[in-house]
Amino acid sequence: MDLDSSGGLASQGALVRFSRVSAQNTVSIQPEARFAKETSRSVARLSAADTSTEIRHDWRLEEIRALHDMPLLDLVFQAAQAHRRHHDPAEVQVCKLVSIKTGGCPEDCAYCSQSARYETGIDAQPLLEKEAVLEIARRAKASGVSRVCLGAAWREVRDNAQFEHVLDLVQDVTSMGLEVCCTLGMLTEAQARKLDEAGLYAYNHNLDTSESFYETIITTRTYRDRLDTIQNVRKTGVTVCAGGILGLGESKDDRISLLRTLAAIQPHPESVPINVLSKVPGTPLQDQADVPFDEVLRMVATARILMPKAVVRLSAGRARLSVAEQALCFLAGANSIFSSETRSMLTQAVPSPDYNADRAMLELLGLRMRPPFKGESSTREDWEKV
Ligand code: SAM
Ligand code: SF4
Repeated sequence: MDLDSSGGLASQGALVRFSRVSAQNTVSIQPEARFAKETSRSVARLSAADTSTEIRHDWRLEEIRALHDMPLLDLVFQAAQAHRRHHDPAEVQVCKLVSIKTGGCPEDCAYCSQSARYETGIDAQPLLEKEAVLEIARRAKASGVSRVCLGAAWREVRDNAQFEHVLDLVQDVTSMGLEVCCTLGMLTEAQARKLDEAGLYAYNHNLDTSESFYETIITTRTYRDRLDTIQNVRKTGVTVCAGGILGLGESKDDRISLLRTLAAIQPHPESVPINVLSKVPGTPLQDQADVPFDEVLRMVATARILMPKAVVRLSAGRARLSVAEQALCFLAGANSIFSSETRSMLTQAVPSPDYNADRAMLELLGLRMRPPFKGESSTREDWEKV
């Protein structure tokens, strides 16, 4: 596999089918609004056919833009269809983030409460002891959590005693019957293999935004570094979790470019977190404008159509969404949430709904908590048998 941030080559078939529709719309002279509407409706019909069975890695920017800009309810409907083809729509995976090493990070990610470069009021904490992590994992499991994500505020993993401790944690939490994900920064292939041998289920490494906007947000590493780590994980049996953040000041084209890069990864990431910026006082992004809900919904729905087998995770920023808004996201294909007894994600600077509120919401919506280790490729046939 060669990960290419500009996306892969479009297959001839896909190109031919797409340009036929485009040509139909460009030959007739119509007022601009009508043209846009007709184009998106044609693409809606076309894409409904195209995404029924096909898993693609060759999405072109204009195809993704046409999907993303479709009339909102058409987009949600199409995403819901893609979702129901590949997943049990009544299941939502509940995950718990555990910050095993907090703050004091040398990186300059402009959104992050844990960067040592900003005064965010977050106290740095050394690596958590094993028993503290296991106790959080036990309580999470008892609350219906099936995936625990261990996060460390590191630039990269080092081959030292701390990494050995993480490998130990991975083994012990996995043996509790939970999927374990780690997000520890950059990783070599050898380190990814060690995590695989310890039983790690997933590795999270978000691309955050488009390649061209990346250096506006982070200067201490490159987009290529990010893709290299994902590629190192892909060489092992560990599944890939990679997504992005809305609200960093990026344009719509940046979001579309991010989606294309994610969808060009072969195979697609098994897990795609969609974060909305939590504005952390003290960071350069503390005064960013709020992201309107319809833009979050469009991102969720488009990710679902492009990567139909992935688990799409409503991540940071969910605490600001109403139950009705979250319900629309579930309809559009989101099928995982992060929940927490402390009402926070990795740090108190990023709020989260708690277990009780989430259990009540899932019950209200008739949704069940997804069990661990279901794999990313459960099909309609699989779950209809259950
Ligand atoms: N240090 C590791 C790394 O950067 O990969 C792992 C931890 S990092 C905190 C995990 C992810 O959380 C980031 O990639 C980013 O997408 C998300 N995140 C962190 N702070 C956030 C914020 N304030 N708002 C939204 N998402 C945030
Ligand atoms: Fe460090 Fe990760 Fe935060 Fe960036 S996102 S400052 S790498 S903890």
